[in-house]
Amino acid sequence: MARAAESDRWRVKPHDDVDLSSEDAASTAGAPGDRKATEAELPALQQRLFELHDRLWAEATRSVLVVLQAMDAAGKDGTIKHVFSGVNPQGTRVTSFKEPTQLEQQHDFLWRVHRAVPRAGEIGIFNRSHYEDVLVARVHELVPRRVWKARYDLINSFEALLAHGGTTVIKLFLHVSRGEQLERLDARLEEPSKRWKFRPGDLAERDRWDDYQSAYQDALRKTSTNVAPWYVIPADHKWYRNWAVSCILVDTLDHLDPQYPEPSV
Ligand code: ATP
Ligand code: MG
Repeated sequence: MARAAESDRWRVKPHDDVDLSSEDAASTAGAPGDRKATEAELPALQQRLFELHDRLWAEATRSVLVVLQAMDAAGKDGTIKHVFSGVNPQGTRVTSFKEPTQLEQQHDFLWRVHRAVPRAGEIGIFNRSHYEDVLVARVHELVPRRVWKARYDLINSFEALLAHGGTTVIKLFLHVSRGEQLERLDARLEEPSKRWKFRPGDLAERDRWDDYQSAYQDALRKTSTNVAPWYVIPADHKWYRNWAVSCILVDTLDHLDPQYPEPSV
């Protein structure tokens, strides 16, 4: 079963000088064994996640927000599909953040995000998030430098507000290598069941790889706090990624230790 020390392996400590180029995306450190042995652990973790979420939902006073960020094709969708497959859909909410709509652009960058945060009892999952506003917005200069620079502090304050209101925030960066990304983008072109995911802009984005890595690195350095830590998950191996994310979720919920309320007789 997952232990706190297991999550710590991937956690970014506040003000850590994360260097993504030295983080091995293919690492399988800490795994119970090879692919087969590690996948054999997943059903027990999923069962545990189901039970803890059931208690969180019944208790209905606190919530958990899971923020998923990654380069294209790094496996955000696959992580959600696998890790949450055993959890009651009632009490979970996934929000995918795309390019802001016209209405969203007419508000501050946190407006659409704040509306989507989980309510008491829920696990909220963000597939991309407010971090796009210091990632794509920075790389493509969608706003002036002084605007995105100010956002790190605003994000930290916003996440502190969520924590203050009873939301536990965990942020997962799925770290893939450039080579693995290429293979997955190729697979999107070749496999009919994946082709719908390919977007013409994906290759142009890939050309900005180094800029994105720098932007991610800065976000990880500036916004990993005690109340809303980042975790860097080596994600070249999907089985390892699924196991690591499951461990972090179980550890987080274990720590919260939600309780079924007393029956109101
Ligand atoms: P995959 O990782 O599987 O490719 P995806 O999350 O990239 O999935 P898409 O529909 O391909 O999903 O793309 C969503 C796009 O929306 C991304 O390119 C992302 O950068 C963009 N986006 C999200 N939030 C913002 C934002 N605040 N400002 C500008 N672009 C944004
Ligand atoms: Mg995409």
